[in-house]
Amino acid sequence: MHEDYTGNLREFILNRNEEQSAAFRSAAARLARVRYRAEHPTEIAAWKCMDGRLNLSVYTKTPPGIIQPFRNIGGKFDLGWPFFQEVIKEYVKYATHHGRRVLVLVTYHFSKGDHHRGCAGWKYDTGAAHAAADMLAVQAGSVFGTSPRIVYPIVVGIETDEEGLVLHGTDGKTLDLESLKTAEHIETSIRDLYPDMDPQMVTDLVPLLRGNLEHVSEVRASHRPPIDLEHREQIIAVGRGFDWLHMPNKALIIGPFSHEWPDAVATAGKIILGNLDANRVPKHEGVLLLVSALSRDEEGSFGWNMATEKAKYLERVSRAILAERVPELSENLQVLSGVVSGHTRKLHALQ
Ligand SMILES: [Zn+2]
Repeated sequence: MHEDYTGNLREFILNRNEEQSAAFRSAAARLARVRYRAEHPTEIAAWKCMDGRLNLSVYTKTPPGIIQPFRNIGGKFDLGWPFFQEVIKEYVKYATHHGRRVLVLVTYHFSKGDHHRGCAGWKYDTGAAHAAADMLAVQAGSVFGTSPRIVYPIVVGIETDEEGLVLHGTDGKTLDLESLKTAEHIETSIRDLYPDMDPQMVTDLVPLLRGNLEHVSEVRASHRPPIDLEHREQIIAVGRGFDWLHMPNKALIIGPFSHEWPDAVATAGKIILGNLDANRVPKHEGVLLLVSALSRDEEGSFGWNMATEKAKYLERVSRAILAERVPELSENLQVLSGVVSGHTRKLHALQ
């Protein structure tokens, strides 16, 4: 636990957000992002599982804030979901208006050491998770078009023991980064996998893979054991804008993209109740419902106000479903809701 932790989960999270936001908006961090964007204009999105281990910025040694995450249980998405459509439409419009192409990492995750360290959202069935990612990439191709590919979805497997990436090409070819001994062949390998990829996008994908090669060799050299996956979560995080929260096994993050999102909140509530009952998390620390709406608009603008209303709506529905489906949690439940600024990552609490 954090050194300032006094047993109040809400305070702990507010403090952590403050620290992480201060680091993100520091002069050096801002300059690093601006410089990176100037050199690598491709927008990069990652569609991924809510699993707290999957930190692609760390895995690829990319400055925080460059890869935009979209999270849901199992990395399951459908471009027919109205909420998902809304955010993707806004994202693609923003990128293309700025003259940028969009690279979408459509991901699934697995463990090579023990399949039970794989994706719980798919009941550890890596084949099914991979097949769904393939289908999603095809769906994205049919939505955004394939010639030329301005929005380019690529299917990526994330191996969580050593944190290496596996890239899948459109015609069944695969590039396991582990198989590359040096960074030398990365660019040729990308061209081989994705022959129709724009040269600038290839150039912008290279540093992610080079960073991943370096990261994997550091993980190996550290001889650290794979991250313990026994559930210890005590936070139900609902909404978007949780990049600052990355703490394995601390929070279950639910992106409210599907109309079935309240069911996912109930599932998360049951997992956390199980953690309390098995004493995997101390009862006195309690359980936190953390709700966030992400906004890139100015505070006080209608866009910001809509985000405020969204946070209120997400909180209201989450509270109601937990009260109905997991009433045992109510005595330990703390609530923290707010709007997270996309520019600073600061959580502006509503209460
Ligand atoms: Zn997962």
